[in-house]
Amino acid sequence: ATMPPLLSAIANAGRHGVLVKSAVAMERLGQIDAVALDKTGTLTEGTPRVVDVRPLRERGLDEVELLTFAAAAEHPSEHPLARAVVDAARERGLDLPATEGFTSAPGIGVMAVVGGRTVQVGAPARLLAEAEAEVEVEVEAKCAADAGGDTDGVVAALVRELEESGRSAVLVVVDGTPAGVLGIADRLRPDAAATVAALTVLTGTAPTLLTGDNPRAAARLAAEAGVEDVRAGLLPQEKVGAVRELEGAGRRVMVVGDGVNDAPALAAAHIGVAMGRAGSDLALETADAVIVRDELVAVPATVALSRRARELVV
Ligand code: ADP
Ligand code: MG
Repeated sequence: ATMPPLLSAIANAGRHGVLVKSAVAMERLGQIDAVALDKTGTLTEGTPRVVDVRPLRERGLDEVELLTFAAAAEHPSEHPLARAVVDAARERGLDLPATEGFTSAPGIGVMAVVGGRTVQVGAPARLLAEAEAEVEVEVEAKCAADAGGDTDGVVAALVRELEESGRSAVLVVVDGTPAGVLGIADRLRPDAAATVAALTVLTGTAPTLLTGDNPRAAARLAAEAGVEDVRAGLLPQEKVGAVRELEGAGRRVMVVGDGVNDAPALAAAHIGVAMGRAGSDLALETADAVIVRDELVAVPATVALSRRARELVV
């Protein structure tokens, strides 16, 4: 017997390293007319490396101590930036102390107690805003000058310097006060520009970039990949908002992502596709299709497969 076209398309996609989870998903892949791509781990290789370690001299930590605190706190996280921090510590042969009470906030960062000190690692703007809110609460008990308006200025300048050179800056906060900044560099996937071009042809619209990362690093990377519509600094729910906005214009949206922070957008989209290798468990579970072989061009290739199968169905 001959297989129904959508099922043979699923088998065909499988041979190309794409796991499409259902016939409905296979059909929907061909229906899309807009695409939203995540940045870290999707448009980029997702194997970022720490290239700058900048302790704030005022805090009295050196590079080794800063990296040790950051890596210990990041150790339980599956975020690509967390892996970069842990790898940097390992490469330098640093011993990581045990941590307690690890928590992570998708799109923001992590927090853990390391050797009795509270360490936060994450998006500078978000962590600084949080620290400020806490200072406001404590302001009656403490002299405001204590809280260090100066430190914020130094941190902001350092962050800007790193971001302008295309890096993701990650802030390390120890016991509520900034202790230093890490500069992390990630590479565009070699097939990113070809994928963007192919998706533009298939859908008739250029893809949108959705990222929790900073606008400066995002814009630089987007330009290299040929993406013009960039939405940066987004929390997971704001990625959903961006998808809804695209849908509001009457479009069927495909979201491609890899992170825990992408899961709500993957679920909200007409079709959600997860990058398998760098992908978090939650993203892989939530997505309707998984790119198992680590090639981004498999995304437009699978859309084309679906279109062909649907022509056979009709
Ligand atoms: P993207 O949307 O590009 O995949 P994310 O939303 O995962 O990026 O992360 C957005 C930002 O949040 C990062 O650029 C970083 O500043 C911060 N962040 C999130 N998780 C972590 C983490 N585990 N360690 C350090 N920073 C983090
Ligand atoms: Mg990501």
